[in-house]
Amino acid sequence: MNIAPDPKSVPHATPLSSEANQAPPATATGVLTVDLDAIVANWRKLEKTAVPAECAGVVKANAYGCGAAQVAGALSRAGCKTFFVATTDEARVVRAAVPAQAAIYVLSGFFQNTGEAYAEIDCKPVIGDLNQLAEWDVFCRRSGWSGGAAIHIDTGMNRLGMTITEAEGLIPRINAGDHGITLVMSHLASAELLNSPANARQLAAFREIASAFSGVPASLANSSGIFLGSQFVFDLVRPGCALYGINPTPESDNPMQPVVELKARIVQIRNIERGDTVGYGGTWTARRSTRIAIVSAGYADGYFRAASSNDGTRGAEVVVAGRRCPIAGRISMDLIAVDVTDLDKSLVRRGHMVTLIGEGITVDELAHHFGTIGYEVMTSLGRRYARIYKGGDATVEPPAPVEPAAEPT
Ligand SMILES: *Cc1c(COP(=O)(O)O)cnc(C)c1O
Repeated sequence: MNIAPDPKSVPHATPLSSEANQAPPATATGVLTVDLDAIVANWRKLEKTAVPAECAGVVKANAYGCGAAQVAGALSRAGCKTFFVATTDEARVVRAAVPAQAAIYVLSGFFQNTGEAYAEIDCKPVIGDLNQLAEWDVFCRRSGWSGGAAIHIDTGMNRLGMTITEAEGLIPRINAGDHGITLVMSHLASAELLNSPANARQLAAFREIASAFSGVPASLANSSGIFLGSQFVFDLVRPGCALYGINPTPESDNPMQPVVELKARIVQIRNIERGDTVGYGGTWTARRSTRIAIVSAGYADGYFRAASSNDGTRGAEVVVAGRRCPIAGRISMDLIAVDVTDLDKSLVRRGHMVTLIGEGITVDELAHHFGTIGYEVMTSLGRRYARIYKGGDATVEPPAPVEPAAEPT
């Protein structure tokens, strides 16, 4: 028995690209498509917005769930030269995917007995306190390693980074030269809120201390920071979420292209009567004769249970045969029930794929239903799906740097 439908018989309201429609294994109950060309287009757009700053790529947490090796490879082929990850294990994956000259910074910083890993991988710690710096210096002296490090200064977020006073203590070292510091950075706490007074405060504090680190490149802006204005870009910007299609300017339209598409298979279709309930707890009641499609994805796949519906509240929607349809009842571990009563029967068949992300359903919309942010949706994307990568082809020559990049629409 083959539950995979004949692709020619699958109706789609919008044509899908051949890659996206590239047959997933017949056994795949879910398919996640990552559009590397869209990630590259987003990077180019951010790079143009941040000119004259260099545009890095933040690829921590497996490139926000998209695949660190694939994303870092595609970005480096597009011209990205600096990458940020959270851990040395992540750095190892990125190192294997990018040229030797690419810089990889590890945000979690240095702790004892990690020096060998830094040297072996050739990555740089983002150092956030003076003890770390002392340990790093000892390691470099003993081993002869001179791979460089960033200094992270806290300017008001109170997460990682040394105090401004501690950083001021390093100025004589900077002025003496041969200091091994390749970047001075800080991180904005509220960059996505255009009018947050914290942005101006952090900018003023960082500008002052960064200018005292003379000759050391400076970096402040994450994705949203790039859109706060040219004062925020300094020498290097560090976008993450915007590369992956999350809106860096949530107070206005999303300037980025969507990157991921998630589809899951209909594994059963049932007809129920008015008054019947659906799912755990019977929280959703049919108000008419209803046709329900049972779809093979659930909260174990990162489709949060918070997006369930019940008799009082609408949950998230999925796109079936080009139409948005409501979820019926609670999301289970592996399954979602969808009300497909309004669709022609011939359009909804067992084995068909429905769209959970894509065809107009954005990561940010889903995050709203999940009661969280797009970052958590992306980094929660499950591992049960077949993963398909589109674009980012190593054989495609990147455009010459002087050529203006195509403006994503
Ligand atoms: C995660 C992170 C970024 C990227 O932030 P986005 O909001 O995803 O663009 C940049 N800098 C630091 C220090 C980070 O931790």
